[in-house]
Amino acid sequence: MNDIQTKIQALRQKINTLNYNYYVLDKSDVSDYEFDKMLEELKQLEKEYPEYDDPNSPSHRVGGQITRNFPTVTHQKRMYSLDNSYSFEDIKDWAERVSKSIDDSVEYVCELKYDGLSISILYENGKLKQAITRGDGFQGDDVTPNVKTIRSIPLELSGKYPELFFIRGEIIMPKKSLEKLNAERIKEGLEPYANPRNTASGSLKLQDNSEVSKRGLDCYLYYVITDDTQYSTQWDSLQHAKNMGFKVGNYAKLCSTLEEVYQFIEYWNTERHHLPFEIDGIVIKVNSISEQEELGYTAKSPRWAIAYKFKAEKVETQLLSIDYQVGRTGTITPVANLKPVQLAGTTVKRASLHNEDFITNLDLRINDIVFVEKGGEIIPKIVDVNYDKREPGTIKLDFIKNCPACGTPLIREEGEAAHFCPNEKNCPPQVTGRLEHFVSRKAMNIDSVGAETVSMLHEKGLVNDIADFYTLKKEQLIHLDRMAEKSAQNMIEGIEKSKEVPFEKVLYAIGIRHVGETTAKKLAKEFRSIDRLKKASVEELENTEDVGEKIALSIREYFSDPEHLNIIRRLREYGLQFETEDTQEAISDVLGEKTFLFTGKLTAFTREQAEEMVEKHGGKNISAVSKNLNYLVVGEKAGSKLKKAQQLGTVIILDEYQFLDLIHNNSAVLRDE
Ligand code: AMP
Ligand code: ZN
Repeated sequence: MNDIQTKIQALRQKINTLNYNYYVLDKSDVSDYEFDKMLEELKQLEKEYPEYDDPNSPSHRVGGQITRNFPTVTHQKRMYSLDNSYSFEDIKDWAERVSKSIDDSVEYVCELKYDGLSISILYENGKLKQAITRGDGFQGDDVTPNVKTIRSIPLELSGKYPELFFIRGEIIMPKKSLEKLNAERIKEGLEPYANPRNTASGSLKLQDNSEVSKRGLDCYLYYVITDDTQYSTQWDSLQHAKNMGFKVGNYAKLCSTLEEVYQFIEYWNTERHHLPFEIDGIVIKVNSISEQEELGYTAKSPRWAIAYKFKAEKVETQLLSIDYQVGRTGTITPVANLKPVQLAGTTVKRASLHNEDFITNLDLRINDIVFVEKGGEIIPKIVDVNYDKREPGTIKLDFIKNCPACGTPLIREEGEAAHFCPNEKNCPPQVTGRLEHFVSRKAMNIDSVGAETVSMLHEKGLVNDIADFYTLKKEQLIHLDRMAEKSAQNMIEGIEKSKEVPFEKVLYAIGIRHVGETTAKKLAKEFRSIDRLKKASVEELENTEDVGEKIALSIREYFSDPEHLNIIRRLREYGLQFETEDTQEAISDVLGEKTFLFTGKLTAFTREQAEEMVEKHGGKNISAVSKNLNYLVVGEKAGSKLKKAQQLGTVIILDEYQFLDLIHNNSAVLRDE
């Protein structure tokens, strides 16, 4: 090993240890700053000496890999599910069944039932090789690049380990991670995620693993599978997993009587609310592995284990009043004010009532006694009314007819559940909401202008619409309350810098109804400039991936308003980006503006490469089969798109090689001419 290798090795080891201490043992040895410096140094070295890079280097934890489709793989050992039980009675029955097969007195291990998604990770020679989701138990998805971003999962093991083994556990989203994610989403005007398990599962399936890396996922391991007869008990295997560097937690308990098992359950039934993550029950396992083998499996689950599921907690309280909140795009959300009540470890005072139908379906009335429940979701829900306790003389609730903020009559469009206030221009929460959205991180990212500043600027009449930000002068800002010279300067600089923000973000920032971050990206890619987008027909818009009629109509409506056009004109004058920068050099224009769509599994190139080729040769990619489509390129197992194209009869159908011929032969012709 040369000096560089030694240095890289030492850095990796140091970082791995720090990661382990921080994410598994929960103690921090160095400041974030020092940690980042080390990581930076490692990344730099790996960049300079790519020959020493290693897929298991801790520098890769921050991601940087895109997975379009997670390959389906077969589990070498099936992943079973667990039988459920809901009462001590059920557990007793199970224990009796166990005792029938086992002569000795049985020992049990009680563990927390982590509420996430199960994962099976393969280690070979101490290195993480592959991570597969449960799927249907026989086959799952290979999500290795994403799993590697989870800091508490070791990429390389220390100490003694079996040469080859699987370890199984649960990937979870800790309460804090979800809070952080939701705070960001709310700031962006997005709906917060309600359910930690679904969010964990959705996060693990993100295509961009640098996004996964930011989600703060965690993983608890509970099952080692190896052919070496290393352990004789589940308890020992948990201890060994801990020693190998896995996060196991200190929650499990070895019990020799059912009484102890019940105590464990009772304890965690209330204590679970103080855990940093959600659990939905307790898992009870027979401790001895030879006894486990003797008991074996049913068609679906091991006979040697059973899950006890906690009941969702439910309490009664009184509905005091209803508030109606107005969102950035005018959507009205009714919110219940409840008599404060303790539920699942927190005081509940408010609950969303969603929309008019929700209220009507429950026939909810002011002063009603309602049942509030907290299951797997973070936000408590009103699930029912105790009609027996309803006071006489209460009256049916009428959903408000006018906007609580500006008095404008509300509209509920056909097929929509929500009401909205159409006074987009002058309804105060909509105006400030739009301004806040404009400066937010995923939009123009002007972080020197926070929500409070926006309100103040609006109150003082300095900023009435999004274009006004670009007219602000430092002198105007300095005179505002609590505004120091330095922060005024920062604001001006931040605003100036936002002029470089790419078109796709500008498109999201201007706040077209129903155009979220992803849709904006796709529209920017498809149309490449605001002028082309402005001119697009509903049908052309609908050809864009993810754009349906609702979004298409909303875009048309947006551009038909002269005031919007005026704002765009002004923003353009101030220097904002309204075109996608052409990073792709055109090679030819043999495809002559013809439209292409790819379907099925491609083998000669990836879909991304294919689309790039189309663009580089002057063609256009569209996302659906319609009469605007000229060519459909089909890979293996093409399905409905191919059928539809055949039915239309106007689409030319090519395989991948014919597509390549089209480009190459044509370009040859062009060159010869
Ligand atoms: P269910 O999804 O309700 O069938 O419950 C079975 C699932 O519980 C398993 O597939 C695991 O993902 C999960 N689980 C959570 N914690 C544990 C644990 N400590 N031991 C075994 N399985 C667990
Ligand atoms: Zn209003």
